[in-house]
Amino acid sequence: MKKLSIATRKCPICDEENIEILYNLNMVLDNDFPLQGNHKVVKCEKCGFIYQDSKSTLQDYENYYKNFNKYPSSPTIYEETKELFPYYMNIIDKFGKKDSKILDMGCASGLCLQFFKECGYENLVGIDPSNESIDELKKKGIEAYVGSVYCNNELKFLENKFDIIVLFGVIEHLFDVQNAVLNLDKYLKEDGIIYITAPNVERYHGYNNSISYYFNFEHINHFSSTSLNNLMVKFGYVNIYTDAYNLKLGDCSVPCFSGVYTKKDRSSDELKNDEESVKSVKKYLESYKKNINEQKKVIDDIFRKNEPIIIWGAGCVAMELLSRTNLKNCNIEAFVDNDRAKHGKKFLDIEVCPVDMLYKFDGIIVICSSLYSSDILNEIRSMNISNKVLILN
Ligand SMILES: [Zn+2]
Repeated sequence: MKKLSIATRKCPICDEENIEILYNLNMVLDNDFPLQGNHKVVKCEKCGFIYQDSKSTLQDYENYYKNFNKYPSSPTIYEETKELFPYYMNIIDKFGKKDSKILDMGCASGLCLQFFKECGYENLVGIDPSNESIDELKKKGIEAYVGSVYCNNELKFLENKFDIIVLFGVIEHLFDVQNAVLNLDKYLKEDGIIYITAPNVERYHGYNNSISYYFNFEHINHFSSTSLNNLMVKFGYVNIYTDAYNLKLGDCSVPCFSGVYTKKDRSSDELKNDEESVKSVKKYLESYKKNINEQKKVIDDIFRKNEPIIIWGAGCVAMELLSRTNLKNCNIEAFVDNDRAKHGKKFLDIEVCPVDMLYKFDGIIVICSSLYSSDILNEIRSMNISNKVLILN
């Protein structure tokens, strides 16, 4: 049966308040975390857009990305996205020239811009909210500014300057996508193009990725080419190119798509109802229920035996399992993680430690990672320890 409700966060594309709730996702977060641990995966009843509804505000997200931004300390993620740079450049080559002026909005530490530079593009600019990221880019000799995707009064001199604006893996994170497009529009020349990539919700069901990867608190918009078109036509853009590709991250393959847009004469409020996205999410959730039941059995077994465990991976998978399952009642001695930024933080009053504490531990190691279970397993093998290991994701 359909669970209808009124949204706290209105549809980011069409501002509709009426939603269908598809899934309630809860996560245990550490105390100073700026975002809400519970959110709903919902479908807009008017345009069919799939997005996350929660009580977190735009300010909460700004605070999160400024102060809790995990990307500068996660070099692996950069390394893996590198594989896609030639693909991105192929598409840019179709629409631009080597002297085209290109803006990478949300450029992180700018590896992609660096690749474009090596391939002969000369006029490159990056904007990102992170000071560290922008410093790194400047060191590489690329023009870069600290700024937001929403509004930058101090960057007025960049308005109407760009032939191409790229937004790679950014739009799924944005609380206010309409404001973001309005802002991008300011920087674009009249005959320029905007190139956007995002995970493709229409294909979620074909991949066995964990629920806390698809619907974590960062991925709050779930676009399809139909819903992205709905957003862009509202601001006077027309789609001139669409393509599907996959992003390989650790053990996962993430279905994504590319959309290229140019300005047309007038904007339109004509929404196409996106019917495919909700079908995909429902199919995905249906198959995920089986996985949930298997997880539950494994966790209940650990709980019954009261064996000491250490959880490797203080991220979304653990946060979600701690909230939904008996894992929180198990005999957890510690969390361990390779990410130094997480050391000393606490979940349910249990500390996150460096992984070398496993040398002093005899119990079960429970791997909680949506992307890197294989890497962690290899690391455990290379440590020459003989603990029993379980994987939950
Ligand atoms: Zn809508």
